[in-house]
Amino acid sequence: MDINAKSLLDKLNIEHSLTVDEYEYLLNHVDDELMEAAAEYARAYQDKYYGNKVFTRGLIEFTNFCRNNCYYCGIRRENHNCERYRLSKKQILECADAGYELGFRTIVLQGGEDFAFSDEDICDIVSGIRAAHEDMVVTLSIGERSRESYEKYYEAGARRYLLRHETANPALYAKLHPAELSWENRMRCLRDLKEIGYQVGAGFMVESPGQTNYDLAMDLKFIEEFKPDMCGIGPFISHKETPFAKEASGTLNTTLFCLSLIRIIYPQVLLPATTALGTIDPRGREKGIQAGANVVMPNLSPVSVRRMYTLYDNKICTGEEAAECRGCLEQRMSTIGYEIVVDPGNRAGLVQ
Ligand code: SAH
Repeated sequence: MDINAKSLLDKLNIEHSLTVDEYEYLLNHVDDELMEAAAEYARAYQDKYYGNKVFTRGLIEFTNFCRNNCYYCGIRRENHNCERYRLSKKQILECADAGYELGFRTIVLQGGEDFAFSDEDICDIVSGIRAAHEDMVVTLSIGERSRESYEKYYEAGARRYLLRHETANPALYAKLHPAELSWENRMRCLRDLKEIGYQVGAGFMVESPGQTNYDLAMDLKFIEEFKPDMCGIGPFISHKETPFAKEASGTLNTTLFCLSLIRIIYPQVLLPATTALGTIDPRGREKGIQAGANVVMPNLSPVSVRRMYTLYDNKICTGEEAAECRGCLEQRMSTIGYEIVVDPGNRAGLVQ
């Protein structure tokens, strides 16, 4: 283990802050021993704030229509081989009911940027879920909208919003997205969401095409400064019908190391072990939890549509055999000594 890297890790563990250059140094000098040292610090915070409890969010992927054309994403507008679907309000409410029965106390409604769902429709769905289950927290993950729209959803009862920043470097953002999308607007959305009072989830893809360790270091600095309540990260995984079809996917080790560093940077943060991590390694999600993550997001979408929400190739949990993701994850977590709980899963220390 590089001694300077170890002393930077120790400094991070005390000060919860490093410069971008220092984060980059850590990423450039990572080896098995440094990873293990970071995971140990990370697990100490995980234990302090969450014990062996793992929070869940039930994910409902309610539409794969998207007006955007992100170069990495399998449901991009110009993927004409993508079979499109939309769930009806009734279907969405049924998924939420089923989720409640299974023990979920928070639902994430995620989709492509599908303006066939008007603000009114979204508000109607949010308030419908809230009316049926008053202790269900509704999270939206429907991309970039106006501040006014975000305010309406909040009034309808949505309390969390996931919008990954994707990368903290505007120059890399421009290489991953067409010119019609801007890093500035993404950041504007995140600021608006926070100001309105949402619990906000940001996050980034690990080892996306063209990403350097300096870029990743900028992401870590962004998390340190913006302090989102949740930080969703996962490896970039190529999708065969996108311009990045031939790009290499991100690796398990870099993702795990970033998870540990994020836990150390912001000890109370909600940190999911994502489906993408479970896709690149059969025990990716378990390893993510052991690196410091404390959230899993089982799929609650109807099995008939799951294979159509393919953001990347070989996505797990899309077949008949995976219908009941919660039970499967409960079992997986118990093999590593963790327990999935029935809980809305607020960030430790959240003032509501
Ligand atoms: N339209 C919503 C939801 C996007 S999908 C929004 O814009 O927020 C959710 C996340 O999946 C994205 O934020 C992105 O980080 C991730 N994602 C998309 N394509 C991916 C790929 N090929 N590999 C890994 N992650 C991907």
